[in-house]
Amino acid sequence: MKVKVLVIGGGTGGLALAHGLLRAGIEVAVFERDALRTDGLHGYRVGIDPDGSRALHALLPPELYDTFVATRARDPKYFNMLTEDLKEVLSMDLPPVTDPIASEKSISRMTMRQVLLTGLDDVVQYGKEFTRFEQHGDEVTAYFADGTTATGDLLVAADGSGSRVRRQYLPHAKTEETGIISIAGKLPITAESAKLVPPKVFEGISMVSAPHGFGCILHVMEFQWDRDGKVKSGIGGNTEELIRQWPGLQFDNTRDYMNWGLWATKDKFPANIMELRGRELVEVALQLTPGWHPDLRKLFELTDVGTCFPINIWTSVPVEPWETTNVTLLGDAIHTMTPGRGVGANTALRDAVNLCRQLVEVRDGRRELIPAIHDYEAKMIEYGFDAVLKSRAQMTSDDPAHKPVIGRVALAGMRTVMRTINNVPPLKRRMRESMLAYRGADRDELELKL
Ligand SMILES: Cc1cc2nc3c(=O)[nH]c(=O)nc-3n(C[C@H](O)[C@H](O)[C@H](O)COP(=O)(O)OP(=O)(O)OC[C@H]3O[C@@H](n4cnc5c(N)ncnc54)[C@H](O)[C@@H]3O)c2cc1C
Repeated sequence: MKVKVLVIGGGTGGLALAHGLLRAGIEVAVFERDALRTDGLHGYRVGIDPDGSRALHALLPPELYDTFVATRARDPKYFNMLTEDLKEVLSMDLPPVTDPIASEKSISRMTMRQVLLTGLDDVVQYGKEFTRFEQHGDEVTAYFADGTTATGDLLVAADGSGSRVRRQYLPHAKTEETGIISIAGKLPITAESAKLVPPKVFEGISMVSAPHGFGCILHVMEFQWDRDGKVKSGIGGNTEELIRQWPGLQFDNTRDYMNWGLWATKDKFPANIMELRGRELVEVALQLTPGWHPDLRKLFELTDVGTCFPINIWTSVPVEPWETTNVTLLGDAIHTMTPGRGVGANTALRDAVNLCRQLVEVRDGRRELIPAIHDYEAKMIEYGFDAVLKSRAQMTSDDPAHKPVIGRVALAGMRTVMRTINNVPPLKRRMRESMLAYRGADRDELELKL
């Protein structure tokens, strides 16, 4: 059976789905609001976990998947928990990556966008801001702000957390603030900035927990190309070839960087925080952290102000299943979640595989379109909102850490427990095993026969 799929939004989930459909010979068009391939800050690090990697492996052409692996940042060696004075509370070795598919990868959001846009020149249309849709018979028409329209058999909302499609299709599906605000920024790795963090922090992922419920995450991202976009010396082999031949690097401004994200409850920030930009945000970070280690504060000071942005952390409220039609949703458009567990993008990729599989069944005449979409939605609603609730529990203003007196006790208690674990090898081993235990989807779920 022939199906024409309209995807609204060329982000993580929408583009990954488009690759799978293209490979399956299913007609697909992606409509992206951004006017240019290079638009958007896309300035942060995304952790693509074994599920997300498997999903990409299933959806992307093999060489593009290899490019995705070649363009990741160097794998972190440690997970560190620190005080605001840069003292170690806990530091755990992370295992070396041996499996290019079922492994965690540190990815620049901008690089991933450019990888996913590779090979989709005839599929993605830019400057297409979706405004509304109309369903008529078996077809659906999307309307865009530039006055154009597109008609297909299925419309997929992949337009992220502010989804216009969701607001029209499921007006009862709500998103709400968690009460947490974050400021994020990046600074280039230089001889000066590299010296500001201890060696294990430079080689790892680090989380600072501080009084008054403040938290800060630090990532150090080193890539296989240099400041001029040339492959670094000593890389060689297939990786060098893949990067050299990859056209996406011309559009990708990602260079070696350190990335920080500082968060706390909304009341700690100026009331107009969401309107502040650049240097103003660096000043806020400095004002909020007077007693922090001078090197950490220097890190804030050295931030490239053009990369700074405020994030109001939202979450979605789980909804009951709805009657299936020829409009469906994936990723943040339906299950916006906090970055607490780092699974928003991974879940969007899982959706893309599951939806693609159902559409392949329709292509082969084994299913009708609506029952196929129904099965996709039934499963997606279950794991999607499970991830929403778990992510919310990790990042909420209700956490005791944010309460004035209990917060101080909770922080002291947490540090004592973690320091004990850090110093008792069997306890540390057990915690490491639990942290690294696989909790994701069934392996079969993330495989596709295109
Ligand atoms: C600071 C931070 C850190 C994160 N870290 C992680 C992590 O480590 N691991 C992880 O798994 N997830 C992480 N996430 C979450 C992850 O980035 C998102 O969950 C993921 O990108 C969602 O993918 P998506 O395709 O649903 O939406 P998006 O990637 O947001 O894509 C939506 C697309 O739709 C377009 N669009 C929007 N409106 C319209 C319109 N009206 N018309 C046309 N196009 C439109 C947008 O321009 C965009 O390109 C993080 C998020 C943040 C903010």
